[in-house]
Amino acid sequence: MKQTLVILKEYFDPLARLGNRTYSIYLPFAITLGACFALEFYAFRIANNPAIVARLAIIIFIAIIIYFSFRDGIMGGLISSAVTIFYYGYIIYTRGYTGSQLVSAIQTTIFLGILYVGVSLIIGWLKQTIDILLEREKDEKSRLQAVIQQLPVGVIITDHEGKIVQVNKQVDTIFDMRVPIGDSIHDKLFFEPEKNGKKIKPSQFPLVQAIEQKKPIVTQEFTIQDKKGNQKYIQVNATPVLTNKRRIIAASSIISDVTEQKEAERRKDDFVNMASHELKTPLTSMKLYLDLMVKQVKKHKDKDTAKILKNIQLQTERLQKLVNDLLDVSRLQTGKLSLNKEHFELNDLLKDIVDVLKVTTVHRIHFVSKSKLPVLADKFRIYQVFTNILTNAIKYSPAGKPIKVTTLKKNGKATVRVKDQGMGIAQSEQKKIFERLYQVTDAKVQTFPGFGMGLYIAREIIKRHKGKIWVESTKGKGSAFYFDLPLVNERQRQTA
Ligand code: ADP
Repeated sequence: MKQTLVILKEYFDPLARLGNRTYSIYLPFAITLGACFALEFYAFRIANNPAIVARLAIIIFIAIIIYFSFRDGIMGGLISSAVTIFYYGYIIYTRGYTGSQLVSAIQTTIFLGILYVGVSLIIGWLKQTIDILLEREKDEKSRLQAVIQQLPVGVIITDHEGKIVQVNKQVDTIFDMRVPIGDSIHDKLFFEPEKNGKKIKPSQFPLVQAIEQKKPIVTQEFTIQDKKGNQKYIQVNATPVLTNKRRIIAASSIISDVTEQKEAERRKDDFVNMASHELKTPLTSMKLYLDLMVKQVKKHKDKDTAKILKNIQLQTERLQKLVNDLLDVSRLQTGKLSLNKEHFELNDLLKDIVDVLKVTTVHRIHFVSKSKLPVLADKFRIYQVFTNILTNAIKYSPAGKPIKVTTLKKNGKATVRVKDQGMGIAQSEQKKIFERLYQVTDAKVQTFPGFGMGLYIAREIIKRHKGKIWVESTKGKGSAFYFDLPLVNERQRQTA
């Protein structure tokens, strides 16, 4: 019953038919003709005043013509008008009008005919124009739909409250399930994403955050389990759709399956790890034999050979540093970098390093420290961080320029600053230099050997000590690198 009503409404209601460009010519013809017969019947069998019938006819026909021009466009209206005009002609013919009566009947018919045709043309044209516009909009919508469906990434679209209104096929493939349309992502996610091995709450999911914070959330990675229990890596971006007044009207999220890239990355990391392990052992023995040889040659006072050997020794040390850095990067990537923490005085360590490096460089290095800085940290790793920062200051500043190392105590933290007057780092590069394998490329400035691993390792080591590392720099004027570490107080030291 309800179904029939819907079908009838869709067939007869001109509003429901807006955008539908199938126009009927039979229906206007049949209904108008039917109305003519009904009126004839009424005029002869029921009514007793012909003037009333004539007025009623005008009202009925104008209504029918408006209806059909609105339902079936110009043609629908014109067909109804034509039938009506014929009917008027039929009346004139059958009623046997003569003289002035005939003239007035013909005049009225011509006047009404023009009115009916005019109404049909105006309303019919409006209807057809609306139909064309609506069809164009529908076409655009379906084109957009097709594009969304065919995208090689998953797309989830929600309304302003976070209710899922649309997903594409890729989403179903990535999650290996039919994603429920209409569900709210605020209360419960339709899957169980994990970050660093821990399940996340719906409020931590980028789409929810994008709606709550009214800003895009970019490139977050999660792991999910598919139905077969395999782990998948997904990368998620989300963005709210805001009006000019920053009111949310929708939100969308793009989800990519990055499992293959992750696997390739893992294989590459494994390879680097294995290769650097394999390189480390022969290199260490080489270095030992070299040191031995240097001693032997020194005994025989063979200056030329000693010079050659010194160079080989230097290059071997470089190679060792490179292999060690590679090993550290791969340990960091696989989460295998362990810390052997001990209590020590930070200034003592830094002072020793400064003294050693002073001998190897023409740069003047000043060391200023005012307070004691007891820390609980991995001595070797902190040595590594500071050496990297200090050798960078030497590497990236001209020989005559001094370097100043300052340490201070602030808010329960030990802060170390290494300030040079070298080439400096552009604002846009300052964050990036702490990323893996990042080196500033500048055609005007001489580049130095290195792989851009040092600061990345330093940042990760400091992070694992609950500290911070950062840089303040002006291009062309010099840089100041800072790192801080939590201080330990006397009580903590004694209970340790
Ligand atoms: P590497 O020095 O091996 O290239 P790092 O990770 O130690 O790698 O440094 C990354 C980049 O940061 C360097 O390539 C250099 O461009 C820039 N950088 C680091 N320290 C300084 C500094 N004191 N002055 C200018 N640029 C620096």
